Amino acid sequence: MKNVSHLNCSDIKFVFTDIDDTITHHGKLPKESYEALWNLHERGFIVVPITGRPAGWCEMIARFWPVYAVIGENGAFYFKYDGKMKRVFQQTQAQIKLNRKKLDSLQKEILKKVKGSAISSDQFCRIFDLAIDFCEDVKPLSQDKIQKIVELFENRGAVAKVSSIHVNGWFGKFDKLSMCHKFMKKEFNLDIKKDNSNCIFVGDSPNDEPMFEFFKNSIAVKNIENFLRQLKHKPQFITDYESAKGFSQVSSLLCKK
Ligand SMILES: [Mg+2]
Repeated sequence: MKNVSHLNCSDIKFVFTDIDDTITHHGKLPKESYEALWNLHERGFIVVPITGRPAGWCEMIARFWPVYAVIGENGAFYFKYDGKMKRVFQQTQAQIKLNRKKLDSLQKEILKKVKGSAISSDQFCRIFDLAIDFCEDVKPLSQDKIQKIVELFENRGAVAKVSSIHVNGWFGKFDKLSMCHKFMKKEFNLDIKKDNSNCIFVGDSPNDEPMFEFFKNSIAVKNIENFLRQLKHKPQFITDYESAKGFSQVSSLLCKK
């Protein structure tokens, strides 16, 4: 990983970023992050947060934040607001209903078998996934317990991704990256493979790994150092600072170009 100061900013137009522990710090969106988002927006960058957070939150983000759109629930959908809300989903309503039944059953199994785990407090806002809290509102669980949650999801054929606070599990072949492809095609008629060098991605944890692998300009904020041993595909660049301050460093570099 190179220091982010080596990033060539000249061709960048699209800024994809994770939210939790990338632009937030200790569970809040600090003023430097919000200012960094506004600075990027005002300079004409297309800013798109990509998050494991739920549909209910993304409704507000798309409507209120200075962003072009938001990809939520680890790539299950994107929402875009320009006077009217546009919602693009990866599954039909019938698939969503069927998958929810399977997730309800998994929820019972995980809470029974992994003591100390809990359903995330934002679960009621979710459409596609089940989020198990391992350190947001519960006493932090051990790596073994987090791994056990992942196994319980995978044993039933679900996909499971570990963020810095939750294990998110869902049924279906989508992730943050596949929705990113769909978003670029639908909104800009661009093939993100060809236009890769016009994009950056900023993240902080293992659920960002497909993005770290794909993007030539993949950046992690410094707190990625807590997860490096779990990553097969490391980001290309790393910031000098953790979370919000790290994101703000990236924004300043881009806005200076
Ligand atoms: Mg994160």
